[in-house]
Amino acid sequence: MTAELLSVGTELLLGEIVDTNTAWLAQDLAQRGVDIYWSQRVGDNLLRLTAAIRQALARSDLLVMCGGLGPTDDDLSREALAAVCGETPQIDEGLALNLRTRFVATNRPMPQRNLKQAWLIPSAEALPNPIGTAPGWLVRRPDGKRIVALPGPPRELQRMWLSEVVPRLSLPPAALFRQTFKTQGIGESAVAELLGELTLSANPSVATYAKRDGVHVRVAAKAASEAEARALAEPALEQVQQRLSEYLWGSDSDELPMLLQQRLRVRGETVASMESLTGGLIAQLLTSAAGASAVYRGGVVAYGAQAKAAFGVPRDLLERYGSVSEEVVQAMANAARRLFASDYGLAATGVAGPDASEGKAVGEVYVAFSGPGGVTVKQLRLPPLEREWIQERTAYTLLALLWSQLRA
Ligand code: AMP
Ligand code: MG
Repeated sequence: MTAELLSVGTELLLGEIVDTNTAWLAQDLAQRGVDIYWSQRVGDNLLRLTAAIRQALARSDLLVMCGGLGPTDDDLSREALAAVCGETPQIDEGLALNLRTRFVATNRPMPQRNLKQAWLIPSAEALPNPIGTAPGWLVRRPDGKRIVALPGPPRELQRMWLSEVVPRLSLPPAALFRQTFKTQGIGESAVAELLGELTLSANPSVATYAKRDGVHVRVAAKAASEAEARALAEPALEQVQQRLSEYLWGSDSDELPMLLQQRLRVRGETVASMESLTGGLIAQLLTSAAGASAVYRGGVVAYGAQAKAAFGVPRDLLERYGSVSEEVVQAMANAARRLFASDYGLAATGVAGPDASEGKAVGEVYVAFSGPGGVTVKQLRLPPLEREWIQERTAYTLLALLWSQLRA
């Protein structure tokens, strides 16, 4: 079964509101194993709206529309559906009574224009909306296709979809299995290279996404049941696991800070940090998971050279090599460890931009991990993008470095 989404409203085209309804509906439909091949947005214009509906009916089994069910003249979803079906809307007495009752209950007079929300055409069934004024429509076409018109407000749309539409649609049994692998220390194109032919398959599908905590790889498979979908995905899961094992740190809902905390707890160890270019982001990430106090001792933002010296980085190193250097980041990691009497020390220094500093280019970054076995330093050459991106990338690289050390 194929579905198509059509969201209606000029404000969506102008970017004044973000089309979250489409994202929500698309995820729900995908989860139910319904394929979505098209998704459109159209403004409040009768001609373009009817054209969009006709086009959708020509190529999809189910059309889900959202928005355009308000009482005002610019909301035209009912008019467009009536035109496409060649039917004339009539006021449905039951719906009109509901509407009047709603207005009486809230002690407001009902504007005449609201009566439009009581319209119905013969091929449409009204979908109740107990939390808003606009009922939805479920249109059954002679060829078996279906059109659903939902109100725009997300709360109303979601309730109506789950409680009124899904039970009426008798969707074919289908299930989607999905697993997301999370990697660090490798770029998206390099991941794609390792995945090779796996990314060419449609079912199961294997796709890469660059996220803030690294590149994610999602394996998805569709079948009649969950067990079958899983079985279909299995070979791809194994392959992804095998080919990316070096870079994998988690899957699905795993978050790096929580995984690190769990690992440190098991080992009975603690960590501390000294940050320069990340300005506290590493501390923020390490404290983002509840229970962090058991493993995170503390951290300092040693932004300027004086601060680095004050917190224990030898002055001669700062003078000889500059703040952005392998030698200094190493000393910072050691100093963090000493300062907080922790098992491990983490440190980051570099140039976040937009201007070069001390003759070092934007994106030149050093991170270090200090532990009982010595110090590991990693130099990054990040592309000179926004400061925030460089800071985030640095922080996550350092967390991943800690992760790989704890895993070893
Ligand atoms: P409408 O039914 O077109 O009058 O939409 C009513 C309200 O629902 C709008 O003012 C928006 O706040 C919200 N809305 C409409 N369409 C969407 C959408 N696609 N995504 C999120 N919110 C929406
Ligand atoms: Mg509207």
